[in-house]
Amino acid sequence: MTENGKKRLFIKTYGCQMNVYDSSRMTDVLAPLGYEPVDSPRGADMVILNTCHIREKASEKVFSELGRLRAFKQEREAEGGDMVLAVAGCVAQAEGEEILRRAPQVDLVFGPQTYHRLPEMVARALRSADGGGQLDIDFPVESKFDHLPEEMAAPGAAAFLSVQEGCDKFCSFCVVPYTRGAEFSRPVASVLAEARRLVEAGVQEITLLGQNVNAYHGEAETGGTPGGTWGLGRLLRALAEIEGITRLRYTTSHPRDMDDDLIAAHAEEPKLMPYLHLPVQSGSDRILAAMNRQHTADDYLRIVERLRRALPDIALSSDFIVGFPGESDADFAETLRLVTEVGYAQAYSFKYSPRPGTPAAVADEQLPEAVKAERLAGLQQLLGAQAAAFNQACVGRTLPVLLERAGRKPGQLVGRSPYMQSVHVPVPEGTQQRLIGSLFDVAIEAAYDHSLGGRLLVDDAPQHSTRARISA
Ligand code: SAM
Ligand code: SF4
Repeated sequence: MTENGKKRLFIKTYGCQMNVYDSSRMTDVLAPLGYEPVDSPRGADMVILNTCHIREKASEKVFSELGRLRAFKQEREAEGGDMVLAVAGCVAQAEGEEILRRAPQVDLVFGPQTYHRLPEMVARALRSADGGGQLDIDFPVESKFDHLPEEMAAPGAAAFLSVQEGCDKFCSFCVVPYTRGAEFSRPVASVLAEARRLVEAGVQEITLLGQNVNAYHGEAETGGTPGGTWGLGRLLRALAEIEGITRLRYTTSHPRDMDDDLIAAHAEEPKLMPYLHLPVQSGSDRILAAMNRQHTADDYLRIVERLRRALPDIALSSDFIVGFPGESDADFAETLRLVTEVGYAQAYSFKYSPRPGTPAAVADEQLPEAVKAERLAGLQQLLGAQAAAFNQACVGRTLPVLLERAGRKPGQLVGRSPYMQSVHVPVPEGTQQRLIGSLFDVAIEAAYDHSLGGRLLVDDAPQHSTRARISA
């Protein structure tokens, strides 16, 4: 129990932003049962590992973490208490039975689509005398979004909002279609209502989330009559009309779903930030076909061209996989060529990791680790140089920065630029808490590999900034 008589809840989140969103909604589901988040699993009444299955090491990390938690659970039981230990997320979905077999200390295993049922699961776990673990990895007919509570924990200045889940694309390397299920879009009204609640809670920047967020096609209705389906561009324009929202972003997009309306929204909607994460995975058409990406390198380059025509300063980011089965030196060179042609502001790159149950995992011509490691190092060197150049080009500019949290150094705050860079600024002692949540113009004075440093320009804030005086 915490000092105020609440039960302690510790959630450890692995992987993508969808999991970050799901973890915060699990906290909301458990709040009416008296659970309050704490920072350590030791002494907790409930521990949830919200897992990611995208690469091999991620699931191994979960099993080693479960070993560590077993000791804490035993410690708690020796004190006469109880610790409900749960595994959630995509490893739970894919390897639920294996988890219960390998880690009998686990009480609950549930997937990404069933966490709205947590209250019943927890009650059953606390009643269960035999100590056997429960498994709930259905893809239920009801949508969890219809059952999640409206109340939310204080989200801060920037928040995620899940609008789309699942995937029907079946890239040959990816587990998502198996762990997150079929593509589903939340109805427009439900998204707008959650956005308004976030704004009332103080949120200014909303990032729409989905495994294929730009495949969004949500049902709309006006005054009770069906209003067809909306794409992401239309949804973003409607969100931009909500007073209090100052910034919008969305992630992750698939090149095939970058339609004209969405590209036009980048040109026309100033609240939509000039940054897009648009994974390409490879620059080789042969590998893209083997990956079942359903687009060529040239298709991707044409999309980049259209985006840049719509919004010349848009900053681009991507995901890359190196060492996919059968990738030759020439294929890899095509990837480097595409990177050089696009010029990324930042990017994520991974060695191909065979995932059980996916077609690529059983392909012949799996590449040796050493080849993957060498290619990854080469690609990361190029991407790192591009990111450093992009950050350097921001020095001397004034950028609006939404201050989100305290930095690592005393007297420092951290926020995001429109281009998604982390920006550190020093602020006078005693003003930190008051300034968090404000949008300020910042004179950018230094560039680092992954962030920028700058100085607040308080007298010169842009019109849309929330002005805040910084006298202590
Ligand atoms: N839906 C997004 C898309 O279409 O690109 C990506 C979703 S996935 C959760 C995030 C990234 O993980 C992918 O873009 C890919 O680069 C990487 N990834 C997925 N499966 C992988 C695998 N088997 N090995 C290495 N990286 C992988
Ligand atoms: Fe995975 Fe491909 Fe679907 Fe993205 S589009 S989630 S990479 S299967």
